[in-house]
Amino acid sequence: MMKQLIQKFVDLAIQQEICQEDVREEKERTLCHVFSCSDDEVNDFIIDQKDILQKMMDEGFKRGLFPMDTSDERDAFEAFLYDCVMDPPAHVKKRFKDLYNIHPEYATHYLYTLSKRVNYIKEERLKKNIQWVYRGKYGQLEITINLAKPEKDPRDIAKSKDQLIEGRPKCVLCKENEQNYWNARKNLRIIPITLGGETWHLQYSPYLYYDEHAIILHDEHRPMKIHEKTMVYLFDFVDQFPSYFIGSNADIPIVGGSILNHDHFQAGRYHFPIEDASIMKSYHLNNLSLHLLYWPLSTIRCISKDRGQLQSMVWKVYQAWKTYDCEELDIRAMTDGVSHQTITPIVRKKDDVYEVDLVLRNNRTSVEHPDGIFHPHVDVHHIKKENIGLIEAMGLAILPGRLKTEMEEGLSFLKGESSISQKMIHHEAWLNDLKKKNIRTWDELKREIGSRFERVIEDSGVFKMNDEGIHALDQFIQNIILQHH
Ligand SMILES: [Zn+2]
Repeated sequence: MMKQLIQKFVDLAIQQEICQEDVREEKERTLCHVFSCSDDEVNDFIIDQKDILQKMMDEGFKRGLFPMDTSDERDAFEAFLYDCVMDPPAHVKKRFKDLYNIHPEYATHYLYTLSKRVNYIKEERLKKNIQWVYRGKYGQLEITINLAKPEKDPRDIAKSKDQLIEGRPKCVLCKENEQNYWNARKNLRIIPITLGGETWHLQYSPYLYYDEHAIILHDEHRPMKIHEKTMVYLFDFVDQFPSYFIGSNADIPIVGGSILNHDHFQAGRYHFPIEDASIMKSYHLNNLSLHLLYWPLSTIRCISKDRGQLQSMVWKVYQAWKTYDCEELDIRAMTDGVSHQTITPIVRKKDDVYEVDLVLRNNRTSVEHPDGIFHPHVDVHHIKKENIGLIEAMGLAILPGRLKTEMEEGLSFLKGESSISQKMIHHEAWLNDLKKKNIRTWDELKREIGSRFERVIEDSGVFKMNDEGIHALDQFIQNIILQHH
């Protein structure tokens, strides 16, 4: 049976263009070797296409090819099986380059499709995510309850504690993860690209928070840093992949992404809510326009055809922001020589015009707000307490999976069917408010979660979108323009 199962698996791989017909025998031999099955093992065997992979994994476990039947171990073995039938990394890199020379979108489409077909991007799990749109003060915000990351099996957690780290990549973003077994990346393929004369690598995110969610990681394991050259990398990227946006997380704790120790960007083909933010005020200088956005996180949009001019303007805004203080708004650039301020830059290219959004960030903490003054405050932590990074700054909320069951319980309380249990205590104050508002349906509750997320990102904004905040933001820009002349 095993031999036939392998044939069916290779058949499927050929059908899905994971590999070509001319390597069929070679791929079958590889897998027969893995499962130690002989060529004469033949009997009648019928299996549904969708069950082939599961059956291969079951057989792998039965034959002792992986030690525990846990989700991590199954993921790693599944990635290994796909790697057996995939083209090797060098081949994928060459194919990408050849396609790129015809059209950049052919190349990205190829890698994206491949990453999905070999289940590096786990589409089936992504379907579990709950998504909706919230219409509020700032236009639309998008909300996702992230259910795609499976709950960790305690046995996997215990194992990861005892594991030796020797010989492993330094972090999950290192290029050495390509074809690595330990964290289910045997089926990962990355593509070298040149930005600012340096080697970076493009890959897709397994979590796919939005369409064609790509990660651009530096060749070396070096920390995130926003510096003058950052804009060169970002412009070089949109010049090479004009249908993708690219953005960088901030480079300091609290206001950045979850990974600060490996320099990387996020890119992709997606229209984020921030793009539709309304413009409060515009300034036009030579070949460059500056717009102040009505957006919860203070954002300046710079537009020009001229890369060089944009780059120098962005750098001026960054430098000015690094030292900007405003006592009345609680904005302080430094404490004891430690800098609190940075930016989250986002770049798009529309025809031959560059559009740069600069989101101003500050990570100072206080006695009143020990997690951050410009970070979700304690009363909204029940919805989100993690860092507000690039993706959320653009108006897409990635909310923790726990919310699904918690909201089911919340609804039952709102309908008067149950009381608030101990594990729901963090939602208590909010749920009591909702009960007074007579919220009783899932649709109404989704709107309330959206409104909560709006508060989460308002908390993260340095200049609040009230008269005082908008005036101060405008003054900040006017000072930069004055110096520019
Ligand atoms: Zn790394």
